[in-house]
Amino acid sequence: MEIFTFDQLGLKNEILKAIDDLGFEEPTPIQKAAIPDMLKGKDLVGQAQTGTGKTAAFGMPILQSIAPDVRNPQALIMTPTRELAMQVADEIRKFSKYMHGIKTLAIYGGQPIERQIKALKAGVQIVVGTPGRILDHIRRRTIKLQDIRIVVLDEADQMLDMGFLEDMESILKEVPEDRQTVLFSATMPKEIEELAKNYQKKPKKIKVVHEEL
Ligand code: ADP
Ligand code: MG
Repeated sequence: MEIFTFDQLGLKNEILKAIDDLGFEEPTPIQKAAIPDMLKGKDLVGQAQTGTGKTAAFGMPILQSIAPDVRNPQALIMTPTRELAMQVADEIRKFSKYMHGIKTLAIYGGQPIERQIKALKAGVQIVVGTPGRILDHIRRRTIKLQDIRIVVLDEADQMLDMGFLEDMESILKEVPEDRQTVLFSATMPKEIEELAKNYQKKPKKIKVVHEEL
């Protein structure tokens, strides 16, 4: 079936209402391609440039899978910079405005860790962060990993360029094996291909040619 509208993607009404408020008229190519498979729990490798709507492509399916009554992180999103972590968290909060009891937290270096520890303790289901700070929380045991079911590597090639390859791998080794792993990258250097091979289960590959919103 060819997809033209957000209603056809299988998203909940609360999310569709938020999309409407944002004025999004139709899903972008990466959203059309990724959302149905993400909702099915498949591993994905999405190759797409900046500005193609990747945050919604993973953010909306993540929201749909969260159990609001479970107060532990269920989705973990890695981004290369604090600005991107904040931006992704803000966008996900916009998509979840009609969903109750879902908390999204951004964690990154340069912000006092005590504040993040307190927020994590209070209960969050979606964590967006830079690899270094996520790993810091893992080592301090201030982030609970046992309920994580979805891991997203956003802008994976940029994280590689910033020297986060080892941190990304360390995090992937710590999260539960029974999970969905989704990787987005503008380019596919061999280190990222390897990462996909070693930490994903038969990922479906999606490639979107340049399209600016
Ligand atoms: P990327 O992560 O691929 O760089 P973003 O997810 O940040 O792209 O999206 C870029 C911009 O496009 C954001 O301002 C976002 O709100 C907007 N956007 C995303 N999806 C749609 C859509 N389907 N229709 C209109 N605008 C959209
Ligand atoms: Mg993005």
